[in-house]
Amino acid sequence: MELISGDIRKKDKIILESKDGLEWSKNEISLKDFLPDAENKKLYYYNIELTCTHSFSKDIYVEVVNDRKQFVGALNVMKNNILYSLPLNFRILTCKDEKRNEHYLGHIDEKWINDAVDSINKYGLVQFGVKAYLKEILTEEVDENELVENGYLSEDLRVRSTELQDAVRHLWADTSEICVFLVPFIVLNSTIGEAWAAVTPTTNSYIVCLPDFNDRSIPILIHEIGHILGLTHTFEDAKWKKVIAGIEKLAVEEKSPENLAKIKELEKEKKQLMPYIFTRASTDNYMDYLNERLSFSKRQWLIMRKETELYHGHN
Ligand SMILES: [Zn+2]
Repeated sequence: MELISGDIRKKDKIILESKDGLEWSKNEISLKDFLPDAENKKLYYYNIELTCTHSFSKDIYVEVVNDRKQFVGALNVMKNNILYSLPLNFRILTCKDEKRNEHYLGHIDEKWINDAVDSINKYGLVQFGVKAYLKEILTEEVDENELVENGYLSEDLRVRSTELQDAVRHLWADTSEICVFLVPFIVLNSTIGEAWAAVTPTTNSYIVCLPDFNDRSIPILIHEIGHILGLTHTFEDAKWKKVIAGIEKLAVEEKSPENLAKIKELEKEKKQLMPYIFTRASTDNYMDYLNERLSFSKRQWLIMRKETELYHGHN
């Protein structure tokens, strides 16, 4: 649900009418049924299932009302008459140190990967009508000492930042399919993430991932697939920072007509980006950081669907 408005009373109920091929698992939710998130008291959630009784060739917009017939929100249901297939390949990159492989990759087998693909679909890709399928799993060996020599890893075999992405680039040239590299190296510090991918589908179509021992790898992989399918972060990203920096730079320079015209252009761009920039960790969006990742917005669905169709899609 993307919009919430109106004055809210504790005894309010949200009414969900089953109609036009949409069936809710429950037609009425009381606000007191919403559960606070255990870690973040600000987030409240309630799980409800929506079944489409037939396929739709148009996106559906559903207005949601309370028991006082007031508009309280809206829900978008993506058209589901075309389901795009997204090929996912997995490369398990082992190194020469057997103990390290066992420790970091020992739990990775065909079942782990199959389950991962299922979860990526169930919790992420199903939202915008794309279904990933497992194309191929291969194991390849890399020389960790060479990676250190070339500056891709620190001396103690840690990943500094996105350097490892450059190190494996030559192993994946096919941009029409996605490849997930699972590597036996951990990060230098916990603030730099556990996986990397780029937002340029025509040049980079792979993810470097340090597989987690619990389920944390799934939201991380969905986040990275979001990048490959054209999404940037929901908080201040590189594009946003570039626009802001451009305005600031021009503002302190001379007030020539050219500069003022350029500022005007950048201000326009800033205004266009603004509705999609949120404070970090304030949403449940997959493209946020340090949050519980659950959803994509409709705008994001459309971008990812379009990119799947243009660069990766097979229906
Ligand atoms: Zn990211």
